[in-house]
Amino acid sequence: MDKAAALNNLSRIARVVLEIGQFSGVEPDLLRFAFAAIKKGTALEQAEIVILVPPLLLYCGECENEYLGEIDDLRCPTCMKDQFNVIRGREVLVKSIEGE
Ligand SMILES: [Zn+2]
Repeated sequence: MDKAAALNNLSRIARVVLEIGQFSGVEPDLLRFAFAAIKKGTALEQAEIVILVPPLLLYCGECENEYLGEIDDLRCPTCMKDQFNVIRGREVLVKSIEGE
């Protein structure tokens, strides 16, 4: 993200907002930990990291219902099957980088 800072003429990054889906395979706590470890001596040193976790949107292959899944109960609330496809929940996005 030093490169992003240079490209945008930012000398210091104040805030990085990430969107991490619950099915992305990325663990927000580990990401925060990694971020803390790599930011020393970079434009990110003072940066706050904000991790947004979007709702998990699923599609039921059984009854074609779209529904919001709970991570500990992914069954379709209509037919109670777990034949779902993930519509939303695998994203790993940098939503914004703010600096000065
Ligand atoms: Zn269903």
